[in-house]
Amino acid sequence: MDFLGHEKTSLVDYPDKICTIYFVGGCNFQCPYCHNGPLVRMEGIRITEDEVFRFLHKRKKYIDGICISGGEPTLYEGLYGFLQRVKKEGLLVKLDTNGTHPEVVERLLREQLLDYVAMDLKAPFHKYEAVAGAKVNIEDIQKSIELIRNAEIDYEFRTTVCRELLTKEDILEIIGLIKGSKRYSLQNFRDGETVLGGAGQFHPFDIDTLEEIERETKDYFEILKIRK
Ligand code: SF4
Repeated sequence: MDFLGHEKTSLVDYPDKICTIYFVGGCNFQCPYCHNGPLVRMEGIRITEDEVFRFLHKRKKYIDGICISGGEPTLYEGLYGFLQRVKKEGLLVKLDTNGTHPEVVERLLREQLLDYVAMDLKAPFHKYEAVAGAKVNIEDIQKSIELIRNAEIDYEFRTTVCRELLTKEDILEIIGLIKGSKRYSLQNFRDGETVLGGAGQFHPFDIDTLEEIERETKDYFEILKIRK
């Protein structure tokens, strides 16, 4: 499979690990606040699988693993073969996903091709389509949540929040869906030129509200991270 971008070294994307991130292009969601607009529109410089492995052969002494992100990686049939090759290199694998393809996550878990999964939770179920900007099969999202919560690997759920799309009550409703999970990250929206819906359209949550949410829900998770 091909990629449309990479970040050679990340110290923050894979908790407690150093990783290289590979970004696929294309997504079945169109979240207007997405900060990877060009990738979602399939813009970027193509990196072939062979180029990835030439790089990883040299790099693997310095990294613990890779993070595969996007766009939405589970849209690609080539993901299985790619991750089999990554595991043969002895590297850890973190997958970022929007949870729309539980059958892919299930197979990747069964074949022991994942070490960490980060799944985005976009909104309370009744607002999902409005926030994701696409038709959503909520049963698939629910299946992915269950699979990931019951997997024997590390995982996190995460939500990006902006004032125009979610209220504090919405965030508390999302938290209610996954209360008791290992790790949950709330990421405040950051504006920029690469935002899918355009710069200047969306605004971050006010920090006081995020701190209130943190105080009210910190006991619901082993780890609650709020990136203000
Ligand atoms: S934020 Fe939304 S549109 Fe952007 S990559 Fe993730 S799921 Fe796709």
